[in-house]
Amino acid sequence: MKLKEKLQHLLVVHNFSPKSFFSQNFLIDEKIVHRLIEEIGVEKEDFILEIGAGTGILTSHLVRKAGKVWAVEIDEELCKILREEVGEKDNLKILCKDITRIDLDKIFSEKDKVKVVGNLPYHIASWLLLHLVRKKWWKVMVFTIQREVAQRLLSPPGDKKRGVLTVVVSYYAKVEKVIDIPPQAFYPVPKVGSTVVRFRPEKKVEVFNERAFLATVKAAFTTRRKTLLNCFSRELRLPREVVRDILSESEISEKARAEQLRVEDFIRISNIIQRGKDLPG
Ligand code: SAH
Repeated sequence: MKLKEKLQHLLVVHNFSPKSFFSQNFLIDEKIVHRLIEEIGVEKEDFILEIGAGTGILTSHLVRKAGKVWAVEIDEELCKILREEVGEKDNLKILCKDITRIDLDKIFSEKDKVKVVGNLPYHIASWLLLHLVRKKWWKVMVFTIQREVAQRLLSPPGDKKRGVLTVVVSYYAKVEKVIDIPPQAFYPVPKVGSTVVRFRPEKKVEVFNERAFLATVKAAFTTRRKTLLNCFSRELRLPREVVRDILSESEISEKARAEQLRVEDFIRISNIIQRGKDLPG
């Protein structure tokens, strides 16, 4: 039986209707399931965190290959199906919880080197990426996300699609596109196309202060029509003269717009601002 028929049968047996408010679009393309597993590279010693396990289409492959799998799923109905379908396994823990409410730093530590995988629930994908990318305990992350979010992540300097997500994620990680997936690879068929993206931890130059860096990036992108001089002086509440000096020291035109800057430029600007704050008086 094909994956689509298997899933539809499963949903009928369990009297389950997919919920759009939980972004429930289940993968029904066998090739993509295998590609995802291959891209994450599952080994016997691996600790895997799966986000949005659904009916367990990825989970069943993961438990067969990995040392330990923690599968998070918010929907209690699905958690029940998941338990039945994947079965009780020594190396599997199902967390029937909202991923945004789990304190992951309490579960994982830097030495865990977790591999994170999932067809991310689309309504929280950007939030999750910004949240997870800053954690120090992951080794690789492979996610299916909306094509539009993937394009934002991968857009180069000068591209209008760039935003806070692009810059912040690229500070912490190297982002690579794996493959585009058509809407028909899911059931129910979503309105938009998806893309599988892989993240690997990679920091270029350290920022002095991560919060200040985030604030600097956010300030720059608040009003896209405005120049950096205007954005920074208004949003960071800095005198225009100070912003002029910072931009000139960073060798960036005061007329530049946020989308033209590279992540290195933001790091430099944020570090100069912080250095100024550390000076006595
Ligand atoms: N991995 C499955 C399901 C993908 S759909 C498959 O590929 O077939 C996304 C899944 O994320 C759904 O099962 C949905 O219930 C779950 N989900 C949505 N919001 C969530 C949240 N906040 N925390 C955990 N899981 C969530």
